[in-house]
Amino acid sequence: MPLSDAPVPATPTAGGDPARRCNRPSHPRLSVVIPFYNEGPNIAALFARLVPALDGLGVGWEVVCVNDGSRDDTLDRLLDAHESDPRIKVVDLSRNFGKELALSAGLSHTTGDAVVPMDADLQHPPELLPAFLEKWRAGYDVVVAVRHARVGQSLKHRLFARMFYWVFDHLSEIKLPREVGDFRLMDRKVVDVINRMPERTRFMKGIFAWVGFRQAAIPYHQGERAGGDTKWGFLKLLRLSFDGLTAFSTFPLRVWSLVGMAVSGVAFVYILIRLIRTLVHGIDVPGYESLLVAVLFLGGLQLITLGIIGDYLGRVFAEVKGRPLFIIRSAHGFTPEDGVGEPPRRGRAP
Ligand code: UDP
Ligand code: MG
Repeated sequence: MPLSDAPVPATPTAGGDPARRCNRPSHPRLSVVIPFYNEGPNIAALFARLVPALDGLGVGWEVVCVNDGSRDDTLDRLLDAHESDPRIKVVDLSRNFGKELALSAGLSHTTGDAVVPMDADLQHPPELLPAFLEKWRAGYDVVVAVRHARVGQSLKHRLFARMFYWVFDHLSEIKLPREVGDFRLMDRKVVDVINRMPERTRFMKGIFAWVGFRQAAIPYHQGERAGGDTKWGFLKLLRLSFDGLTAFSTFPLRVWSLVGMAVSGVAFVYILIRLIRTLVHGIDVPGYESLLVAVLFLGGLQLITLGIIGDYLGRVFAEVKGRPLFIIRSAHGFTPEDGVGEPPRRGRAP
């Protein structure tokens, strides 16, 4: 996600030696999850780099490719890849659900002991996988890749990201790590927790931070996009930020009682001043501006408040409807025994 430009804080880790408290399988399987949205031109180059990297790990592996309603030849190319190597599996969504939900769909189809989500545009180097596995074997449940360089971002995006992080850190109950995106390794138990989360507003950055677990960090260099364009316009980013904020903070809802109190306090003082003035100087008809200013100011404030309450209410409505998070048109390469792929639903027993 192109959302940050601030220094990297220390990633939280539990004290002690994590290897003592974990029990990794001797023949682990790794799942890689990749969402694809109109990535046709990148697919050949992606697998040409990814498959050798996976083969070199010496573990069993699968790649779960999610076609997020692409309008180009992405699906055909993915199915070709699946035919030539059945370890490459394909989930085809019924329409474009957006990256966060495509990722959720992919995660719920994984069966590996460790899972790595990555982008299709080769901005996430597959060569990092051995380092991921090494940390995982050492007992860390989450290994995040931390960008130490970021390319292809406009000043507007960078400033916006900085502002977003500042606001988010101050308003929400979790802290978002900087320069950390979706590129990470997660242990099966972390993925299971995420898969069980039924919420619709899936701000993955926040969800990843919220679930916790023992974490390690590995720095990496994020390259340019291999081909095509980024799918994140400024408006989409704005929407994502607002989603993230309202999904992890109720501050925008609560702040208005404070603002209301402050405004009433000022209004009360003003009333006193007018009263004293009237007592001293008699009735004074002019006062049109002050009236108008007060009415407009309070009216605006009330509309903003209503809008924010409406936004939260809309989310509650969406949650209550309990629609599935994503719809799968077809899945290729999965066996029924895998028992995977159900979108999380509210009320389902964990
Ligand atoms: N993506 C997706 N659905 C969308 C938008 C993007 O599955 O609606 C995928 C895209 O194909 C890519 C990943 O999400 O694999 C990251 O997208 P992009 O590279 O455009 O984002 P950026 O690297 O700029 O954060
Ligand atoms: Mg990208």
